[in-house]
Amino acid sequence: MKKTIANTTIEIIRGDIASQPDMQAIVNAANAHLLNGGGVAGAIHRAAGPGLEKECKPMGPIRPGEAVISGGHNLPNKYVIHCLGPVYGQDKPEDKLLADCYRNALLLADKKEIESIAFPAISTGIFGYPAEDAAHVALKTIIDTIPNLTNIRTIRVVLFGQDDFEIWKKALAG
Ligand code: ADP
Repeated sequence: MKKTIANTTIEIIRGDIASQPDMQAIVNAANAHLLNGGGVAGAIHRAAGPGLEKECKPMGPIRPGEAVISGGHNLPNKYVIHCLGPVYGQDKPEDKLLADCYRNALLLADKKEIESIAFPAISTGIFGYPAEDAAHVALKTIIDTIPNLTNIRTIRVVLFGQDDFEIWKKALAG
């Protein structure tokens, strides 16, 4: 499913964030210390190889809502943007911190002249953010940020499960 706003297309697909070879950048749902982990971080670090953790370690710890950029190492992507999402019920206000992740990742990528970027559903795994609420916050933030972007033409959200995919499609359809 796709929606184009100004010159930028938002795509919702089902798949693996670590297997998006046509994207210049992918976003990691990182932990504060930017180390290998479970879920998205595990998939990305596995595919990138140990060089990614070596590059990232000195940049940590990062705060909820913050985004930092690294190279892609053995990934097919030139860059990885690492975002720390809020832990639901702990880092507050969750919706503002989740919005900060998407906005900061997009603005950082745009500054690096990146044209295509893929996001996972940040905070909706181990961090416990309800999927539907997260989809609405994320899509509203993406749509609100598009007018401030000059280089990004494609923003893809990659959902791992079928249920999450359906939730995001419905949210994008409005
Ligand atoms: P967080 O700690 O921010 O909650 P997780 O990595 O635990 O991050 O999960 C975020 C979301 O990404 C969850 O919905 C999870 O199902 C999904 N996910 C897990 N692995 C992958 C993957 N390889 N590609 C895309 N999404 C994934």
